[in-house]
Amino acid sequence: MKQETYDSVIIGAGPAGLTAGIYASRARMKVLLLESYIVMGQATMTDMIENYPGVIKSSGFDLIDILKKQAETFGLECRPGTVKNVLLQDGSWNVEDESGVYQTHSVIVATGACSKKLNIPGETEFLGKGVSYCATCDGAFFRDKDIIVVGGGDTAVEEALFLTRFGKKVTVVHRRNSLRAAKILQERAFANKKIEFIWQSKIKTINGSQKVESVSVENIETGKIQDVACEGVFIFVGWQPNTGFLKGTVNLDEKGGILTDSAMNTSGKGMFAAGDCRKKLLHQVVTACGDGAVAAYSAGQYVDELKGIVYK
Ligand code: NAP
Repeated sequence: MKQETYDSVIIGAGPAGLTAGIYASRARMKVLLLESYIVMGQATMTDMIENYPGVIKSSGFDLIDILKKQAETFGLECRPGTVKNVLLQDGSWNVEDESGVYQTHSVIVATGACSKKLNIPGETEFLGKGVSYCATCDGAFFRDKDIIVVGGGDTAVEEALFLTRFGKKVTVVHRRNSLRAAKILQERAFANKKIEFIWQSKIKTINGSQKVESVSVENIETGKIQDVACEGVFIFVGWQPNTGFLKGTVNLDEKGGILTDSAMNTSGKGMFAAGDCRKKLLHQVVTACGDGAVAAYSAGQYVDELKGIVYK
């Protein structure tokens, strides 16, 4: 039996994809959302979100769960699927995941971003044996232990604060002598007695035998190297857009961010992008949701035009 063509396939179930799903379902588009269970989204991994308007405080997991339930009340069809390939063929898109190929008039890419690596000795070897990129997932394993956090942005500082619930001490190693994180997070971190800082420094190696036992930290100014004993190393040095599967399909920036206009059009006709997978100024849940709404609206207009539907 020939598969019916979707109006839109949304790739990704973070704030951008789910908001696109809410808008597209309410517009009564025939829409499918593919959700990868391999990649855990940035919002889901966040312990506490307190700057999403209208929600005073929520864990990232709970916020995503509510968004998904909200989208499903409007009839959004969600399926597990990790997309490997997206191809434009005879005017429609073929979206391929592990279970098959979906044909669709439009695609909304909302695949988010994954943690950047330091690419230093010990990082891969000790993954799951002390090295982590997710405090919410792994923090509790480090009760009363010494923890190192790498980075100086919102994620590093927010997660360092979270890790003080468990760790004996949390030492933030940052390559400059001031933090990039929002001032309110800085104030909390500086006031927290469990948090210490090692400034203008980078981690050269993560050391141990069976699991992490220490890190070698180099002062960038003096070149002096010190060994700091620890059992956990949490790395929060930014994010990399999950766009590898697009392989030359649309224009990306040098970091892999999808280039879009303000209507979320990519360089591919009928392909839209939303959230952290696109090149943008401010990576937040609220801007991801805004992108998702715009992308669904634009996809709807594109599909109507394709079908020759004119509103008077
Ligand atoms: P980010 O803002 O890009 O910060 C990355 C941090 O890691 C920076 O301090 C950077 O140092 C450092 N860094 C980068 N590469 C490094 C390397 N190779 N070695 C050592 N340090 C390195 O990333 P983020 O903190 O994950 O935030 C990403 C986006 O999500 C931001 O837009 C942020 O606002 C947003 N976010 C928001 C919230 C919130 O609103 N509560 C929470 C989490 C994330 P430099 O400072 O020297 O560049």
